Amino acid sequence: MITCPWCGTAYEAFISNCKNCGGPMLPPREEAAPGPLIPPPPPRTIAGSYVGRLMAADGASIAGFVLALLGGIFTALGFGLTLGVVTAFVGIPFFILGMVLLAVGAAVLLWRYQEKRKVVEVLRSGEAILGEVADLQENVSVQVNGQHLWTVEYRFRAQGQTYTGKVTTLREPGGELQRGKPVYVLYTLDDPRVNSIYPHP
Ligand SMILES: [Zn+2]
Repeated sequence: MITCPWCGTAYEAFISNCKNCGGPMLPPREEAAPGPLIPPPPPRTIAGSYVGRLMAADGASIAGFVLALLGGIFTALGFGLTLGVVTAFVGIPFFILGMVLLAVGAAVLLWRYQEKRKVVEVLRSGEAILGEVADLQENVSVQVNGQHLWTVEYRFRAQGQTYTGKVTTLREPGGELQRGKPVYVLYTLDDPRVNSIYPHP
């Protein structure tokens, strides 16, 4: 059994690219060298839809989605109440509040979308370097479909400076991602602050 490191789909036998998300698959552990998994040279195949998966495991994206959803409901409700002239005095403030929530939620989603696009880009073409896991935390206050968000913090050195980064995931990270363990980091040459670990958990 081999599991896609990008989306978690399980396969009976090894295939080079995941049928579900298009992500590159890694050879089974027994065949691979010990130690952290070495990223293949760029460009790496990552499906564009991976942005959606990253956003689904991102606290700010989830908050933005909830705001936009509430905004949509309030706007529709306010609009309906405004049409029924008598109830317009409640309808108009509801409508305005809804539009504000919708705008804030949409702005947050757009910001996170752009951030996650950068992550996909760094996973595709980032420079690889060996770093280490700095911390691993379970965020018990955020729950999505009964799963908690996990935050993996890591650090690495690039261009003579130490950088830190973090990734969030809905799947409990395995034994490879424990504090102090080595992990490969992919970063942007122009701006190492744009980085991610490989494979993205
Ligand atoms: Zn996959």
